[in-house]
Amino acid sequence: MNGPIAAVDPQPQTTDSESDRGSGVAAPPVRFRSDLQATATYHQGRRYWLVRDPLARQVVRLSESDYQQLQRLDEADPGLVAEAAEQQLLQGVPQTRRESARPSFNPFYIRLPGVDADRLLCWLVPHARWLFGKRAVLFWMAIVGLAAAIVLTQIRQFTHALPSFHAFFGPQNWLPLALTIVGTKVVHELAHGVVCRQFGARCPEIGVLLLCGTPCMYCDVTDSWSLPSRWQRVAVMLAGVYVEAILAAVATLIWWSARVGPVYYGCMNVMFVCGVSTLLFNLNPLMRFDGYYVLSDLVNVPNLRSQAAAAWRSVIVAPLAGDAFRNASPRRPRGARWLVLFHAASTAWRWMAVVAIACWVIAVAETARLLPFGYLAACGLMAAAIVPMFRKMISVARGDDAWMGVNRVRRLILTGAAVALFVVMLVVPLPRRIAATGIVDYADATTLYVRSEGRVDRVDVEFGDRVDNGQPIIQLESPELLNEQIQLVSQSAEASLRVASLRRRALSNPGLLEQWDSQQATAEGLQQRVEYLARQVDQLAIQSTAEGIVLPMIDPDRAAKISLRELRGQHLVEGTKICRIGDPEQLEVVLELDAHTRALIDTGSRVRIRFDQNGIGVVESRVDSISEIRRGDGSAAVGNVETFRIICKLPSTTTPLAGTRVGAHVTVPAETIVQRLARAWRETF
Ligand SMILES: [Zn+2]
Repeated sequence: MNGPIAAVDPQPQTTDSESDRGSGVAAPPVRFRSDLQATATYHQGRRYWLVRDPLARQVVRLSESDYQQLQRLDEADPGLVAEAAEQQLLQGVPQTRRESARPSFNPFYIRLPGVDADRLLCWLVPHARWLFGKRAVLFWMAIVGLAAAIVLTQIRQFTHALPSFHAFFGPQNWLPLALTIVGTKVVHELAHGVVCRQFGARCPEIGVLLLCGTPCMYCDVTDSWSLPSRWQRVAVMLAGVYVEAILAAVATLIWWSARVGPVYYGCMNVMFVCGVSTLLFNLNPLMRFDGYYVLSDLVNVPNLRSQAAAAWRSVIVAPLAGDAFRNASPRRPRGARWLVLFHAASTAWRWMAVVAIACWVIAVAETARLLPFGYLAACGLMAAAIVPMFRKMISVARGDDAWMGVNRVRRLILTGAAVALFVVMLVVPLPRRIAATGIVDYADATTLYVRSEGRVDRVDVEFGDRVDNGQPIIQLESPELLNEQIQLVSQSAEASLRVASLRRRALSNPGLLEQWDSQQATAEGLQQRVEYLARQVDQLAIQSTAEGIVLPMIDPDRAAKISLRELRGQHLVEGTKICRIGDPEQLEVVLELDAHTRALIDTGSRVRIRFDQNGIGVVESRVDSISEIRRGDGSAAVGNVETFRIICKLPSTTTPLAGTRVGAHVTVPAETIVQRLARAWRETF
């Protein structure tokens, strides 16, 4: 999951150390750090300096004029100096900033010392031509395109074949999933290293880091920043995603043609890990993984995140905090408006990701019946996100750093407002909606089944015909049944004759009474069989049991696809659904939901139904009825899932085709985050 440079401390910017301002120690002169390694590079004919920080394993890019100014600090622009101090390029910086140069201990991010893997990578470069050669790239991109085309053209069968959340994230899949993650991430990091080496840049270190306690591999390719071509640098950054895309594509192709078994499930894990996680994390520029560095290089804004934070401070915070803050802050970067948007988007994304991961952890814990641990982990995760924010607010209220010169009342008002905003988020009810998928069906339609099997001899009506109750629909014929009936009728007649003659003879010979009794029982048995067969023969004629229009079934495995007449001559087994009788104008939507949401849904709950095709758009409806909870058939899933169905009537103005698949959102009672947590707590203990 981690990018090469993502493997530097994720929060080097936070200057959250204890304030020991004014301690009176004679400060050494502030100057450019002597341990930094600077290399010149050219972009669009201009010279830039790549300054590599060997301690933080971070590269900062400086323009020629900024670099020259930083060499003679007493003449430098104060904004630039503040920025350089923030990026930890200076030594002898007084008070708080000096401390932050030492990376603070972060239990969620522990980087173990790595090894020099240059020899391994040098050996791998010629052996990986089939992956990273020019022609190889074209070939593999074609394979990825093929897999994507298969998924997109057959999206319905594809989503149908995917297992449910509970099945996929259940404990039985934890070990395979973990092994898949570790394996693919090793390949991912090696790919970065190999491509980096292929272009001639060194990769000084490969090792293991513990991300939230999970061992991940890292590969330090910060030297790739010294590569002269931007496209080479981008290629190094994208190498990991590239091999993951290949893995995902190959897994998809195998999965698509494999039978259910270990290979099938293994491929599914690879598809998930390489496909979904790559799109959500690695390529996403809002998190500091590969996509971030690619974007940063493409828009030519080095240190995109700190530049965006600086832009946020100068555009949003400075007008609120006043001139004193502005003067003590790094200068306003170029393109500040876009950077502000980027900062807002990436902050929002980080919070969403924290909340989503917390919810996901709870849901996964639920599948393992370890819900208390899930809540514990989720609370820890939330705390890890919230605590730094509060520390930041405390430092603002106290007037640390750039806030030093800001009026005290103003600082308190600003922190108060921020805290109030946070509290409101916890207290104000948030609307909540549950996503579901379903199908359009005819409302209150009666289904006609085959009740005694046979071959279709005659079809009397067609889809769309109006029929009355009792009107013949289909006539089946069954020579076997008729044969059996004829034989049984004659056997039964013979038995009756024998009984009658025995009775006559028994009048004169009482010794025959016993025989008469048993013959009578046999005759009665035969008579019952005859009546049963007569019913069976009657049922060969399928009649309408209601009044209405003949409608097709919407099951995917229905007997008659387009026309009832196509059934003629077919052999239909007992239980086959033939058609339905109902009103084609009366439609309803049947939604299937996970059993754990049952308590939240009531009849009358609002439902927004989304029609993707046929231009209907979104339709508002309400829950009309709710079924019992039942176990799903689990046809394609790893295990069975409990679900229930809700039915929503469609307004008569909406006329989609029956059988149309829809997505829907069911509105459930609004709750604040606190209430939601409290309810979850009550349900657990
Ligand atoms: Zn990567």
